[in-house]
Parts: sequence; C-alpha cells; structure tokens
Amino acid sequence: MSEQKAYGHKESHALMRNAQMPEWNSEDPTGWLRKMDVNRHDFPYTAGLIVDSFHEWYKRGSTMSFAESWKWCVFDYAGKWLVGSGGVSEPDNSLWEQVATLSLSTAKECTLQIEENGAETAFFVMPMTTRSKGEIFALFGCAMPAEHFASGGRNTAEEMARHYVTCFYRQFEHMFVADLANVHIHAKRESSRRTLLFQIVQRMHDNIDVDAVLTEVIASIMTMYPDVRLTLYMSQDHRSSHPQVKPLPLDLEEEDVRIKAFKDGSMALRPYTEDDRQVEIGLPLGGKQGVYGVFHLVMLSPAWPEVDLPFLSMVAGTAGTAFENAKLYERSNQLIRELRMTNELTRRLNQNLGLSETFEAAFEELMKMFETDYCCILHYNEERGGLEAVACNHPGLINELIEVDRGIGGKVYASGETVIIPEYPDQSGTKSQLMDLTESQSLIATPLSVGGEVRGAIMLSHREPHYFTYDNFRLLQAMAGHIGLAVGNALLHAEVHRLANRDTLTGLYARHFLDQTIKEKQNGDFCGTLVVVDIDHFKSVNDTYGHQKGDLILKQVSDILRLSIRQGDLAARWGGEELAVYLPQLGAEQAYSVAERIRQRVQKETNPSVTISCGIAEWNWTEQDQASLDSLFYRADMALYEAKNNGRNKIMIDRSSGEIESMN
Ligand code: GH3
Ligand code: MG
Ligand code: MG
Repeated sequence: MSEQKAYGHKESHALMRNAQMPEWNSEDPTGWLRKMDVNRHDFPYTAGLIVDSFHEWYKRGSTMSFAESWKWCVFDYAGKWLVGSGGVSEPDNSLWEQVATLSLSTAKECTLQIEENGAETAFFVMPMTTRSKGEIFALFGCAMPAEHFASGGRNTAEEMARHYVTCFYRQFEHMFVADLANVHIHAKRESSRRTLLFQIVQRMHDNIDVDAVLTEVIASIMTMYPDVRLTLYMSQDHRSSHPQVKPLPLDLEEEDVRIKAFKDGSMALRPYTEDDRQVEIGLPLGGKQGVYGVFHLVMLSPAWPEVDLPFLSMVAGTAGTAFENAKLYERSNQLIRELRMTNELTRRLNQNLGLSETFEAAFEELMKMFETDYCCILHYNEERGGLEAVACNHPGLINELIEVDRGIGGKVYASGETVIIPEYPDQSGTKSQLMDLTESQSLIATPLSVGGEVRGAIMLSHREPHYFTYDNFRLLQAMAGHIGLAVGNALLHAEVHRLANRDTLTGLYARHFLDQTIKEKQNGDFCGTLVVVDIDHFKSVNDTYGHQKGDLILKQVSDILRLSIRQGDLAARWGGEELAVYLPQLGAEQAYSVAERIRQRVQKETNPSVTISCGIAEWNWTEQDQASLDSLFYRADMALYEAKNNGRNKIMIDRSSGEIESMN
C-alpha cells in the first residue's frame, strides 16, 4: 500500500502540471518516457505504472496452473529491472538484465537458456510496446523450464505479456482519468479562488475604514484556509480590537519570517520550528508609501505552493493597497476634524475669557478633540507656590496643589519637555497622581508656555494602554500653543483689569471698585461692615514734612491696611487721605477689632508717626434701608466725624439706631 502511495494521483498530477507531454520521435522510441521522467526526482512516473500494473496482473492470477513454477518480472524502458515474482530475486538480476539489454538493443524478444541446478531454464524477455505508436515502454520477462519453453510455453508467455499490457493500459487510464478529474477539481478551485479574490479586492476597496479592511482580509484568508493560524502584526501605532491583530514585536531575531517580510517587503517562508509538517509564512501588508505590518501564517505545507503562495501574496498586496487608501482617507478626515477642532478651540479661546474660563474652555475642547478619558490642566499659582490643577475631570484633583518637580506634571513643568507614556507605570518610574487616581495607562503631557515661559502643563490620560498616537501628541503640542496664547491674553486682561481698579499711589483698590464690590455683596451676602479711615491732622503733616513725605505716610498707612485684612476683604482709597476697608460677612464688633488692630499698628509703625480715626457702619439684609450703599457710606462717615470730634485716634461705630458708640 505504501508503495502505491508513492506514485499515487497527487504525484502524477504534479507531474502533469509540471511537464508537457513530450513528442514521440520514431528514431528514439523510448525518448518520450525518458523526457517525462526528467521531471521526476524520487520515483519514475512510468516505473510506477509498470510496477503497479505488474502487481495487478499478477494478483489477478494470470498464471495458469501449468505455469505455476514460472517466474515473471518487468523492466523499465531503459532495461532496468523493476519488479519480479515467483522467486525472482536479486542474484538473478544481472542475468535478467543481460537478456533485457539484449532485447532492448534489438527491440525484439530475446531468449537465454541456462542450466540451473541440473535443469535447463529459458529466460525470455520481450519488449512491451504502446498500442498506437509501437514505442517501447517496458520489457516483460519470463523464466521457465526449457522444455516448457520448447513445447509452446513461449506462446503462453506472449499471451500473458499481452494481458499485462492490458493491465498496464488499465492502470494508465485509471491514473489518467483520476488526473483529469483532479485537473477539473483544480480548475474549479482556481476559478472559485479567482472569484473570491475578485470579491476580496472589491470588498476591500469598498472599505474606507482601516479596521474594516483588516477584518475583511483576515476573514478572507480564514475562509480560504480554515486551518491556518493567522495573526496580523502591525508596525505602526495602529490600534485594533480585532483579536488577530497585534503590535509587531521589536525584539525578533533576524531570521524571523515577520522581520524578513517586513524588511524586504516580500513573502518570507520557512519550516515551522515547532512542527516540521507546517510552514511559517510572513507576508507584508504594504502599499506605495511603506510597509504597515506583516501577516503571519502557520499552516500545513500548501498542497499547491505555486497557486497558494501567489494567491496569498495577491490577497496581502490588495489588503496593503486598500489599507493604505483607507489610512489616507482616514488621515485626511482626521486632518479635517483636527482643523475644525482647532478652529473651534481658537474661536472659543479668543472670546476674551477670564483665566478660569480659558482653562475651562481649553479643558472641554481637549476632551472633545482627543476623545480621551481624563484631562488635567496644571497652572503655576504664585500665591500658593505650586502647580494648581485648574481644570480636571477627576474630582479628587481639582484645585489640588502639585509640587513643582514632583510627579509627571511637575516634571513636565520643571523640564519644559513633553512626555508620552504608552503603558503606565513606565520604565522611568515617575509616579503620577493623575494616572494612579484615574487608573490610566496611556498619557501624553506637554508644557503650557505663556510668552515663552513655562507656566503649567497639560496632561491627557486614557485607561487603555497605547491609546494615543504620535499624531495625537503632535496635535496636543499645537493646541498647547493656542492655549498658551489664550492664557497669556487672559492674564494680560486680568492685569489690565486689576490696574484699572487700583489706585496708583497707594496700590489699594479705587473708590469705584469699592462701590461696585459692596453693591455686589449686598445682593448676595447677609451682612458686611465698612470701616472708613482718615489720617489725623494730615494737613499739618504735609505742612511739616512736605507733600512728598505726606504721600509716603499715606502709602505706609495703606500698606498696614492691606496687611491687616484677610483674603476676601477689601482695602480701598476712598479719596484724598481717606481710606476704607470693607469686611464682607462681618458684623461691626468683629470689624472693630480689625480697625483697632490697624489703629494701633498705624500709630506704632508709621514714620513719622501719625494716628488715624475710624468710622464703622454695618449693614444687614433684614434692614432694608441700611442695605443701601449711600446709607452705609453716610453712616460710616458720621461715625468717623464723631471719632474726630471725640479727640481723634479713635474708632466709632454707627449703631443702626443712629447712635454712635465708642468702644475705646
Ligand atoms: P483731620 O482729618 O484730623 O480733621 O485733619 P486733616 O488735616 O487731616 O484734615 P482733612 O482730612 O480735612 O485734610 C485733608 C488733607 O489731606 C488735605 C491734603 O493736604 C491732604 N491730602 C489729601 N490727599 C493727599 C495726598 O494724596 N497726598 C498728600 N500728601 N496729602 C493729601
Ligand atoms: Mg484727615
Ligand atoms: Mg480727610
């Protein structure tokens, strides 16, 4: 059976595909067979048929009882002994071959009689010729007792040989028909493959989505080769949720088919190391602009390598072009989207927003633009002496203070350098509060520069690893530029605003700002207190020391005022040498102690020493009239007047009843 396999249908099929049927030449009757066999490496094609038919002929019991002792054998068209029966064994071969060579050279039957063990044996070899053209395809041998030979055995052997020829033809036809059927199957496969290829090409080019192209090509290959183990390794930062798409490992050895295919841009093939019946194929996924990835296939050695391999190459090539087209389409869409987003961001940022609104707008636009999980904008807060999370969608971080040079945000701020982390924690080991709290894996961060100076950092994070592409990173840098400009504008705007509300000599708020603030507070607060401050005998200070010195003292008193109040309180120059302090949500008694502190400090700290008088008035939301600004000022002024009248260096409180009370 195993012998049968060796020259089975697959063999003959391969032969038929490889070799053209040679022309028969009458001058060289066995030439066609030789030519046919040239293409064979392991087992001659015709020899297979000869041996096969011999077995069949012998098995069918073609020998008659009287010929039971006869020995039979066959030779190929070159006279080489192939197979024998009835005890024809090795030592006989040289003898047989002598007869065969003789028969072949004369193209006629040939007999040799030899005495063996005291009995004469006739060795008889006759050429077997094809029916139509009469060319020799084999030699048929028979050994029989000489007496049998003489008494008609030769004729019987001839008959037997004719039967053998019939068997040979039967085998030949059998094989031929099987081959034809195979060719037919092959052609059908070929045609369905072409149809499939056509469909694949069409479907792939119909897809303008990169992922759909990859899904399509993987599905197509899997349909054609259901048993194949297929993985697509992508070199670029291409993300795919497809389980058969993975990133191309960077640490592969030179001989790896994936690396070879990727580098050479052509198919690479080698036996699979874990199982030598299988092969490993690397197929590049590439287009005109480069190679994007490699298909890696592990499959049983293809039955039709000259069909399967070009087919796979073609599918991969088509996929590469389709992928590139989809990528270009995606890229142009991406650019349009980025432009639109940039436009939207700059439009929003250019609306003369305040600083916190600028950060809020930037935060919202960045979240939309990058479709990311978290965004955190850090801004250096001079008063607090650290990086403040001014906009962030993690509640635990908002308004948190981050130390400069600590964490990833601090590092970005301190170094002024951008950071990309595809998988947190990265090798550098820098901890990040944002990454830890949000359980993020991917991060891109860039410094936020205002007027060439780093003033903060922008961080975007996502829970998926490898979420951000290099393009994302580039875009963020560009956006940070726009945001930096807007922050600069907002800061400038705030500064102008601040200056407009300040008095230049004292640095305190201007009167109009005090008025405006109290009005606003009266709309929202429950109560508040106004303290008006007037320097005692300032006229004489001016007269004694001159106006310039007077100005300096006015500034000293103003500084004491500013330093004696809390954040949220407001110190203003009310006019001339009259100053005022507004204490929101504070009653007159509490305001009194603030005024008293100021009074004492002025007396102690001014040089030359001056004193002040203060008038205090409070308002309360329950008392309609007193909640008016004019009334408040009037009452405070009246209290001040009383303080002056009572000897100066005093504090007087206006009571809602209209009484004025001294606490000193
Ligand atoms: P008192 O308030 O104790 O009744 O006496 P006074 O001398 O301070 O009187 P008043 O408050 O009425 O005087 C205001 C004086 O303050 C007038 C002016 O010479 C001086 N003054 C007002 N504004 C300034 C200023 O901006 N700089 C200087 N150097 N002096 C000013
Ligand atoms: Mg005065
Ligand atoms: Mg005055």
